[in-house]
Amino acid sequence: MGGTVDLRSDTVTQPTDRMREAMATARVGDDVFREDPTVAELEGFAARMVGHPAGLFCASGTMANLVAVLTHCRRGDAVLADAEAHVLHYEAGGMSVLAGAFPQPLRTGDGHPTLEELEAAVGPPDVHRPPARLVWLENTHNRAGGVAYRPDRTAAVARWAHARGLRVHLDGARLFNAAVALGVAAADLAAPVDSVMVSLSKGLSAPAGSVLCGSEAFVEEARRWRKALGGGMRQVGVLAAAGLVALREMVDRLWEDHRRARVLAEGLAEIPGVEVDPDRVQTNIVLARVADAPGVVERLRAHGVLALALDARTIRFVTHRHVDDGGVERAVRAMRAAVAG
Ligand SMILES: *Cc1c(COP(=O)(O)O)cnc(C)c1O
Repeated sequence: MGGTVDLRSDTVTQPTDRMREAMATARVGDDVFREDPTVAELEGFAARMVGHPAGLFCASGTMANLVAVLTHCRRGDAVLADAEAHVLHYEAGGMSVLAGAFPQPLRTGDGHPTLEELEAAVGPPDVHRPPARLVWLENTHNRAGGVAYRPDRTAAVARWAHARGLRVHLDGARLFNAAVALGVAAADLAAPVDSVMVSLSKGLSAPAGSVLCGSEAFVEEARRWRKALGGGMRQVGVLAAAGLVALREMVDRLWEDHRRARVLAEGLAEIPGVEVDPDRVQTNIVLARVADAPGVVERLRAHGVLALALDARTIRFVTHRHVDDGGVERAVRAMRAAVAG
């Protein structure tokens, strides 16, 4: 039978042996004094990968996103984000609670706003509305099912926003999944925006951390906001060392997770009572529609397969380094049994 097949999230990935070695031998210093060479190396390396001048190591993606809002927005500014964006569902409302920003959810066709959708949401200046300040993009889009959006769409939104004096932040927790799936460089997807966050602790398997990238001036101000949030850490090169291994060694294998997600989707699509569109599966996330998602997830657990119920009818499966071909087969068999009751 083997152990549990954990498809809840790619965040469950364990650090690799190479990461643990790098952590044990990392040169470190007090990073609040800017004296940690490993953190500096990670920040520079990540920034180059996404086509920006500077980077800031943050404890989590949630912190990096919040620091971005604090840096771009003043109290009362509106942040325009797809209604299904991670930041609106899973980040404890930090942009309102802590940054005083107003989240303006957009009903978008496919998770990435079009210029028409943005135009309609912003409208002419009006005393009734909080002024739009920041356009929020997510690539890949988590709740849309790991959808990857092509570089021309991001570039078009950035051009539109900049022409109106607005800024653009890209939540790129899984930006490298998008780059691998589309066969483009991460910088092609991220260079046009004003700031971008990439996670080291999802499929890239580092134990913790995200990097927030942007201009030198943006990162300088972001560094102060990170400090205000309690995110100024000291000999944190021990974590950055794992992050460097993540960026250097773990990006190129993401295609394997994508291939297995596709195989999983094709297997699930054949089960009566499960609705999946394998053609929508571009990266490592598979969404399956069933009659009773929490019930099915509970029965899956009894078969040693873990997944997440996103809502009453949707189950999310995420493939990653610890799920092999056998694990995918087991998940399909377990779903067949779990859906049958
Ligand atoms: C996981 C995730 C985050 C938040 O990252 P944490 O490190 O879990 O705080 C933000 N955005 C997206 C799209 C994510 O998937």
